[in-house]
Amino acid sequence: MGKKPTTSNSKQDPIINLDAVSLDDLEQDLVVDLNSISLADSKNSIASRLRAIRVNAPDLQFIARFVLTIMGIVYFATNSSSPLILPISIIIGLCLMFLVCYLYLYHQVKRHGFSTRATISANQLDISFAHFAWFFDPANPSPLLLLVVIAAVGNGIQHGFNVFRSILQSIIIAAPLVFALRVMTIGFQPISLIYLFLTGFLLIYTYFLIQRIDAIQTETEHRTTDLELNNFKLKQLGRALQNSEARYRNIFDNSSVAMILIEDNMRISLVNAKFEELTQFSRSELYNRKRLSDLIDKDDLERIRRFHARRKKMGGTTPTEYECKLVDKFHNTKHVIIRFNITHWHERIMATIEDITSRKQAKAALQRSNKKLRQTLSMLTQSEKGYRNLFENTGTATILVGKNLRILKANTKFLELTEFSKKEIAVKKRLSEFIERKNLYRIRRFQAKQKIKGLPLPTEYECLLIDKQKKMKHVVMKIYTPAGQETSIVSFFDITKRKQAEAELRQAHEKLRIVAVMDELTQVANRRQFNEKLSSEWSRLKREGLPLALIMCDVDFFKSYNDNYGHQNGDRCLRSIADTVKKAVKRSIDVVARYGGEEFAVIMPNTDIHGALNVAEAARVAIEQLRIPHKMSPISPYITLSLGVSSMIPAKSLAPDALIKDADNALYEAKRLGRNRTVVGKCNADENFHPQSPWPNKIQKAYPNL
Ligand code: GH3
Ligand code: MG
Ligand code: MG
Repeated sequence: MGKKPTTSNSKQDPIINLDAVSLDDLEQDLVVDLNSISLADSKNSIASRLRAIRVNAPDLQFIARFVLTIMGIVYFATNSSSPLILPISIIIGLCLMFLVCYLYLYHQVKRHGFSTRATISANQLDISFAHFAWFFDPANPSPLLLLVVIAAVGNGIQHGFNVFRSILQSIIIAAPLVFALRVMTIGFQPISLIYLFLTGFLLIYTYFLIQRIDAIQTETEHRTTDLELNNFKLKQLGRALQNSEARYRNIFDNSSVAMILIEDNMRISLVNAKFEELTQFSRSELYNRKRLSDLIDKDDLERIRRFHARRKKMGGTTPTEYECKLVDKFHNTKHVIIRFNITHWHERIMATIEDITSRKQAKAALQRSNKKLRQTLSMLTQSEKGYRNLFENTGTATILVGKNLRILKANTKFLELTEFSKKEIAVKKRLSEFIERKNLYRIRRFQAKQKIKGLPLPTEYECLLIDKQKKMKHVVMKIYTPAGQETSIVSFFDITKRKQAEAELRQAHEKLRIVAVMDELTQVANRRQFNEKLSSEWSRLKREGLPLALIMCDVDFFKSYNDNYGHQNGDRCLRSIADTVKKAVKRSIDVVARYGGEEFAVIMPNTDIHGALNVAEAARVAIEQLRIPHKMSPISPYITLSLGVSSMIPAKSLAPDALIKDADNALYEAKRLGRNRTVVGKCNADENFHPQSPWPNKIQKAYPNL
């Protein structure tokens, strides 16, 4: 639509240039009803007049040709005078052949109707037959030359100039040939020249006549075509104008911008739909009484008038654009921009009114939101500062951990804890690198398990932290991940000191426990432990129905040892005795205890009297073999031990005291019998035991009461 008759400046009326209306463009734009375009009247042309005498009657034409051919045959048959180049029968035969050709053509035309091909064939056949007849005509000058003329002129008139032109072209070739051949064969006669000139003249005259007619026709056709074209263009132009007008009306009516035409006195003379919508007034209301100035807010109008007056005074041009408020029918105020354009149409003023109320509102909202944003930003900045401060001065080693456990930020406390510099941490450190490997694996395994179970991950872990010097520090690691964030806040609480204190406490506890259950001097179980152990084993074996054995031993003449070697040596001796007894007792379940002063006891669960006796004897021998000198002992130069053994299956009616008593009695018996021996308790008496140590006479002498 490049050449649409539109104008870029809306101040101008649309100017439509006739030359600019090209056919091609309009074809794209408009639908042209070709029937409505009347062509130039051609009824008065010579060609149309000639066309009136053209007859396309196949029967008539055939009759004419048939008659002429028959006449030719008759002519040749009757005129047998020589010279004929061919025998008369052959010539007649050829004539008949032409007749057959005519018949065939007639048949074709009757069947398929007239066609250009059939017409040309018929004409060529006519011209050929005429020349054929002229050529074989024995008369000289040949009257059949007339046949050529008749064929040429007749066909020319009959079928129009185009056919005539082709006929003449074939005659120009054929006629001189026939003439020359006839001169050669029949001889030359001056009279035939007259025929020749006559026919020549006729032919030439007709030819030029045709040329002239052709020229006139072409010119007429040209003129008609021009007229038709102009006519067509005018029609298109009319349509284009109509369309253009409609388009402008459309633009005006349906414009998204409110438009009005105003007279000099500001009276509104034309409005579009948008203006109606803007002001809420109907068209008729606006046309009847409203002026544009009535619609403008009073203050704004005053302002504009003042501005105008000032401008006028200063001699400046008045602006064409005003921003003001418009009051609609229902007294709503709207912000608008009014733009004035002076049109060329009766010097009216066109004004476009753009509603910028929403733009104004949006601007105000934007300003409000900007202010809010600025406030929020400053608050955020302050808050960020506060948080940064808090992060730095929290008093706890804290880091921010991002993806892949990378440390994003570390506070001074963390740097102190790990002894790394800020730079070193920023370069490569991950949280995992600070946690001792075994601890790390333990945490990972634990987390994996929790995940499999679908349980939440704990936020607190106790682990070992490795510092720059590869020293371990006990820490509690607390992880906090704010919802929807990929960064976690990890705090470390150094509990190394607490851990140390715990360890110390544990040690103290252990010591206490040992003190509570061990005899300090001999490092074997104390009396309390002995009591507890004996009673628990008594109960257990009572349930199981198994024997419990007890060995009671007492150092012989220890009082005199003490007296002689001093208490400290006495203590040392007691320690050696305790160690030796412990060694003699092989089973871990057996308990060696200090029963009192220089008395020891061995609790042997699940042991019969034989086993207990063996252990007792082994202990006694071992003590003897210690060879701790004891000059004051009346029975031996060395320290010796007396032992009483008893083993019984704890009976329901009895208490552990029974066992103690029996073993103690046996010990007493051993003392009585001379010491440094083992005696089996009464409850095992029937088991036929004999004292292994000999009854020393020395003792009997020393203790005659025993
Ligand atoms: P017996 O052969 O009849 O047992 O004669 P004994 O002298 O060993 O008997 P007695 O019960 O009269 O003496 C026990 C002595 O053991 C008294 C005490 O001097 C000594 N004694 C007891 N407890 C300790 C101790 O803890 N350290 C030291 N050095 N001696 C102790
Ligand atoms: Mg004693
Ligand atoms: Mg003693």
